[in-house]
Parts: sequence; C-alpha cells; structure tokens
Amino acid sequence: MSKTWNKRTTAVHGGTRRSHYGEVSEAIFLTQGFVYDTAEAAEARFIEAGADEFIYARYGNPTVRMFEDRIAALEGAEDAFATASGMAAVSGALMAMLKAGDHVVAARALFGSCLYVLEDVLCRYGVEVTFVDGTDLAQWRDALRPDTRAVFFESVSNPTLEVVDIRGVSDLAHAVGAQVVVDNVFATPVYSDAIGQGADVVIYSATKHIDGQGRTLGGVILGRRDFIRQTVEPYMKHTGGSMSPFTAWVMLKGLETMALRVNAQTASALALAEALQGHDGLVRVLYPGHPSHADHALCMAQMGKGGTVVSLDLKGGQAAAFRFLNALQIAKISNNLGDAKSIITHPATTTHQRLPDDQKAQLGITPGLVRLSVGIEDTADLIADVKQALEVAAGR
Ligand SMILES: *Cc1c(COP(=O)(O)O)cnc(C)c1O
Repeated sequence: MSKTWNKRTTAVHGGTRRSHYGEVSEAIFLTQGFVYDTAEAAEARFIEAGADEFIYARYGNPTVRMFEDRIAALEGAEDAFATASGMAAVSGALMAMLKAGDHVVAARALFGSCLYVLEDVLCRYGVEVTFVDGTDLAQWRDALRPDTRAVFFESVSNPTLEVVDIRGVSDLAHAVGAQVVVDNVFATPVYSDAIGQGADVVIYSATKHIDGQGRTLGGVILGRRDFIRQTVEPYMKHTGGSMSPFTAWVMLKGLETMALRVNAQTASALALAEALQGHDGLVRVLYPGHPSHADHALCMAQMGKGGTVVSLDLKGGQAAAFRFLNALQIAKISNNLGDAKSIITHPATTTHQRLPDDQKAQLGITPGLVRLSVGIEDTADLIADVKQALEVAAGR
C-alpha cells in the first residue's frame, strides 16, 4: 500500500489481503479457528504469531485484520483494534488504559451509554471522573490534575452538535501527561484529522457512517501500535468484545463507499440548514457547517465540513416535535445515524430520556429539539418534506 494515497483511494484499497484465488472483492474468512500443520507449529504460533498468522477469531482473523488495516491507514493511525460495537470500543479502550486511583476528565455532553461507562462503571473500579463543559478550555484546564490519566470527549456532541477543540484540549491534557481519547463518530473518518490534531486514541462506532446502511453493529479503537497491541488487544481478546469476521466484511464494503455517501449527506445537510434559516416554526437550526452555529469557525478549521446531522428546535415544544416527526414522509423515526436513509429522533423522549430535566436543560436538550441524520436521498425532496412537516407541526 502506498503512503501517498489520499483518503478516498485508501478507503477502497487499503489493507486488502488476497487469498491464492486472487478474488477482487474481499473474502469473508468465516472461521473461528485456524489449522496448524504440526503440534510444533501450534506451539510456535502461541509463542509468537507472525503478521499473517492467526490463532482464534477472538484474537484476530484475516477479514477483521483487513478492516483494521484499512481504517488505520485512512485515519493516519499506526494500528487499530476492531470491536463488536462502538460501546465495546469505548469501554474497552478506557478499561484497558485505566486502573484504580486514576483520574479522568470528560466532557459532559456524551452519548448516553458513554455517560453510563464514565459515570456508573469506572467509579466502581476506583477511577474518579470529573465532568466539564467540553467547549470551555478554561474548565478543562481547571479540572486537569497531575494524576489525570485520560481525557474523553465527543469531538462533535450529540445532539446539539457542539464542537470540542481537539488541539486545544490535547495541548492541555498532554501538559499533565494525560492521554486524549476522542469519540469521533459525528466527525466521521472522512472529515477527521484527530490524530494530526493531537488525539492519542480515536474511537468510532462503525455502526454509523462506516456501515452506513443500517445493517450491523461494530466499533474500532485507533492509536499507536504499542497501545493497540500491548494494552488494548490483550484486554479485548480476553474479555470477548472482538468484531466478528462477517461484521468486518460489511464494514470493509462500507468503507469503500463511505466518502461518496458522507459527502452527499453533508451537502444535503448544509442545503437543509440554509433553507431553514429564519423559518418561523423554528427556535433554532443547529448545524456546525453553517455560519449561524456558535462553533462554526472551529468546525471548519478542524473538520473542513459540518457533517451529516442537523438538529432543529421547534416552536411549540414536544407536541410540535411529535407532529413534525409523524408528518415526515422520507425520514424514518429511529435512533441510528449516519445511515443512507434519513433518520429522525426526538432525544428528550428517547436517547436522552434517562437524564433528569435539569441535565437535559444544561445540555440544550429542549422538548422541541429533534435530531435529523441526513441520508443520501434527493436534496430537494428532503427539503420539501421537512418544510411540509414543519407546516403540519405549526398546525397550518
Ligand atoms: C452510536 C454511538 C456510540 C455507540 O456505538 P454502538 O455501535 O451503538 O455501540 C458511541 N458514541 C457515539 C457518539 C455514538 O453515536
């Protein structure tokens, strides 16, 4: 593989391992185990497996390794470990890295399951977590301590799409020797340069834009080779969160078309955000790719684009938001994102239902807020559909 390839070439060809048949499309090695020629060969492989030698699918598999090599090349990371879901990646990276007595600083605006891992799980193992407003560098600076081992944040938060300054937080964290762990789902691998901007570990839920067609759960942890192979791999392979070969094959095929999908989705998201500016049924349109967003300049500097999600705050609260969801003809009511199909969610009653009202308010999750993951449908159709549903929501 050439180091000079750009992302779109790497996403199609990176990491490919061909069998002796010379197949064009990546093979699915749907096998748990591998046959050794002799007992001595088995012994030798358990002592040290070579680069193209496998032992058991929980430890590694040729199809999974193709996915790991391709996404690592795409992200500019030395190595990657593929996991059964995005949450297996988040919990695995943190559990592998931390021990009792460590301190973690995390942004408060997190995906619900990430919040559970940081708030409910880690403290049971003696890890202390301090939460901050991720967009406020002064709060990061105040919370960091000499015993801070890691910082954790979503580079673009869900569902209000606040952008965290990866470079700024990394500089502060590195000054106290802390590792920077970024959940980069909303940025997507297409618009990410998180490692170049200072992140030590980058995590994706591959369930989202990498699959991009709503089929399977998956995740990946990216970082330096010694961290991935000496710290993450032993933890993951012995605790059981590895990716299945079938999933890896779906994700490999997803990576091939990811840039086409994500660029089309992002163009539609921007067109929609533009078309809805000043709409009288809306309190606000939240899209970091549009100049009206508070973090627009940082988003452009960090990602170059605004991504595939637009959040809308409807006048008339939950009743209006529900009328809007029910009136949409193209976007489906569901809670995934990054899919080829447009998907709409009402966070306050679904993904963030568990949060107390004051925490919802603090995170900007108002009763009228809806999160629209823009798909690859025709842009004009999408805009027309959202506009007609806003009319219904307003009772007109
Ligand atoms: C979806 C998501 C996850 C969890 O991923 P799964 O594949 O559902 O386990 C974690 N973080 C963010 C930001 C997500 O959007």
